[in-house]
Amino acid sequence: MKKVINIGEACTGLQCHNGLAQKIALRLVEPGLTHTDFTFTQLDEESNRFANMLVSLGVKPQEKVFIFLPKQAEVFFAFLGALKAQAIVCILFSNFGKEAVFERMIDAGASVLVTKQSLFNKLKDNLADVPSLAKVILTDLPEAQNESVLSYSQLAQASSSQFSIPETFEETPSVLHYTSGSTGKPKGVLHVHSSLPYQIQTMDEVFQLDPDDVYWCTADQAWVTGVTYGIIGPWAKGLTQIHYTGKFDAVDWFNLLEQEKVTIWYTAPTALRMLIQDETRILDKYALPALKRVYSVGEPLNPEIIHWVRRVVKREIYDTWFQTETGAIMISNRPGLEVHPGSMGKPLQGIEANVLAEDYSVLGPDLAGSLCLKKGWPSMYRTYLNMEEQYKSKFHGEYYNTGDQAKKDADGYFWFIGRNDDVINTSGHLVGPFEVESVLLEMEEIVDVAIIGAPDEMLFEKIVAFVKLKEGLTWSKGLEVQARIRVTRQVSPIAVPSEFVVVDRIPKNRSGKIMRRVLKAQYTGQDVGDISTMED
Ligand code: AMP
Repeated sequence: MKKVINIGEACTGLQCHNGLAQKIALRLVEPGLTHTDFTFTQLDEESNRFANMLVSLGVKPQEKVFIFLPKQAEVFFAFLGALKAQAIVCILFSNFGKEAVFERMIDAGASVLVTKQSLFNKLKDNLADVPSLAKVILTDLPEAQNESVLSYSQLAQASSSQFSIPETFEETPSVLHYTSGSTGKPKGVLHVHSSLPYQIQTMDEVFQLDPDDVYWCTADQAWVTGVTYGIIGPWAKGLTQIHYTGKFDAVDWFNLLEQEKVTIWYTAPTALRMLIQDETRILDKYALPALKRVYSVGEPLNPEIIHWVRRVVKREIYDTWFQTETGAIMISNRPGLEVHPGSMGKPLQGIEANVLAEDYSVLGPDLAGSLCLKKGWPSMYRTYLNMEEQYKSKFHGEYYNTGDQAKKDADGYFWFIGRNDDVINTSGHLVGPFEVESVLLEMEEIVDVAIIGAPDEMLFEKIVAFVKLKEGLTWSKGLEVQARIRVTRQVSPIAVPSEFVVVDRIPKNRSGKIMRRVLKAQYTGQDVGDISTMED
């Protein structure tokens, strides 16, 4: 098998070797816009320390290291250090509820969890549910509590800042991401170290960077964008990255763009729509002379946003399309390619995308079908962990089916239409209806439930819950609050339905499957279509 550079090394040691040892790699900006800087040398040494910690704890290559933290320096150190030690590393969204965290750690067989005390408190009573979990490392614990609950700083102090990386091969597993499906549990998408050259290619082709660019990707590190374009890509290119630890606020974000002289800004349509709403607080107040270009990902970029960015920010904005499974951008707009507002652009070099009919024949221009990619691109995921059959079912002949509906026009531009499964895209985050339904069904007042995504002006899709109540009960504010808390605590605040609709029955087909399209049509006032397969 061919040897390749380890991703952790490419992002740190290699950059030092290339003369960037003293360059700022990470500028962590706090609310109020104070910041802490880390050079490539510090990133290298701190990630080496983490790799040494893992080795000293007996963690072997391919064991799973989970990081459950808000944005803070240790997320980056631990992520890169775990890769150096050839562990498989998975970052979890710090707002995830308990069930969501356990489900993923159990599925993967996590060996190590890096977190902080307040988050650990939510989990600690049920640790026995993850029998594989040998060590928990807390970033804000001064000293080890016992043999299993350890202090990050104590371990780091005892660890060398030098680490000898084991030989890394093309197929050495690297990053694990969980993505929601329309049925069943979230799927663990596994990537390998040889994804790197293509990820770098996309940095060059799409972002077209200069060495002194200041780059800000607003995605959380729990999602593929936050990893490929908020850790790996920019550091493998030797860039200074901004990471902001605060929440979204229009004025704070524009202050940050201005103060930090961000040149390349990678964000998402929901954030931009929120900025549009706040236009009066920012309009004409910021010139942002350093800013060169804006990029977007995660949801369709409506032409209105493009026009707004052009008018208010006075820059071009480029849409990019990819998904957890693809590991890097597949289709995008970019400088040098004329932007057709509403289109997500054209495939990148080496990527063959097509729109296929149900029988997998290639459709002609402007016909809607499944967006498929010729398999074998270098950053392609290698499996769904413990779900080989589901993985195989995504491939048909030479094609990978993305699960999106799209069309391609006569000029080769791709236009996103929607998903062809029931996964909901709310503010750029995928939510599986099944996960939310399972939690709501645990409420004794609810006898049946169905979750759908409905169009929303701000979030692209909002989550709507249809609930059938126990006989004699009526829906109340109290029940709604309970339902919301349940979903927040067990799944995530992102997955909380914005609306609850009480119904007498949930439409199902004869094999008992929820007919979400019927509910969706009813909700949006459209024709419900063919319902001949519906149960009587
Ligand atoms: P995830 O795997 O969570 O990153 O979500 C990937 C999905 O988000 C894609 O399959 C699309 O449905 C959606 N998506 C990502 N980027 C875009 C985009 N530029 N336009 C429309 N939908 C997008």
